[in-house]
Amino acid sequence: MLGRDHALSGAVVLAALAPPLHVGIAHLAAGVVLGAGAGVLPDIDHPDSTISRSFGFLTEWFAWVVDRISGGHRHGTHSLVGIAAFTAGAYGAGLFQLSEPKALTAGHLGFSWHIVPAALVLALLYSSALRALHIGGHFGDLIGVAAALVTCYTGADLVQLTVGAWHVPLLATVVALGCAAHIAGDELTHGGCPLFWPASMHEFHLLPRPLQITTAKLCETWIIFPLLLAGLAVAVWHATGHPLAIPQPSK
Ligand SMILES: [Zn+2]
Repeated sequence: MLGRDHALSGAVVLAALAPPLHVGIAHLAAGVVLGAGAGVLPDIDHPDSTISRSFGFLTEWFAWVVDRISGGHRHGTHSLVGIAAFTAGAYGAGLFQLSEPKALTAGHLGFSWHIVPAALVLALLYSSALRALHIGGHFGDLIGVAAALVTCYTGADLVQLTVGAWHVPLLATVVALGCAAHIAGDELTHGGCPLFWPASMHEFHLLPRPLQITTAKLCETWIIFPLLLAGLAVAVWHATGHPLAIPQPSK
């Protein structure tokens, strides 16, 4: 699947789940764009992917390291262990940020090392979302870094969402959902994903073989992409407080 469609799928999942997760309108845009970024995150195991090129040689080097650790493209980062590792990283960055309350005060612009890991994760997600969706051109990375700093300094990434019985910060929730959307997307293609890596290399598919899609071919361009765009529009419409069904007149 193309980076663009992976990013859109992450954005759709975030927007669709915003009402049950109680993501307020104030945090919806950040959540949806970060969801798009998390939607391309598992491809950080490939030096040529959208996310690996987002900060030049820095992210390309990081992608090389991830590629070595995770056993190559579409292995570790495309498994349940991968989702858990990315989510734990985002959660840990949030905990570190929280451990220095001064860095969180809205409007407080003092520097603290405690915001650095969260700011790096946020900048990576924002910039790769913009890059994957072809928004912002050469300024996409700058916009991503600026958005990351604003998000950190307002503490928006730490807003607690109710996920079942747990309270999970926005950033960790977004990373988990975006990575899951990515893996589901790759499971629609011929490649599939080894969900139970490293215990098993069996590749899981969501579609029977004749219906599996080929990346960047007609089906992805003319069916998947328009469906994702329409889904995003409907999900954002609903998440911003508009009912999906036409209300029936009361008798
Ligand atoms: Zn992938």
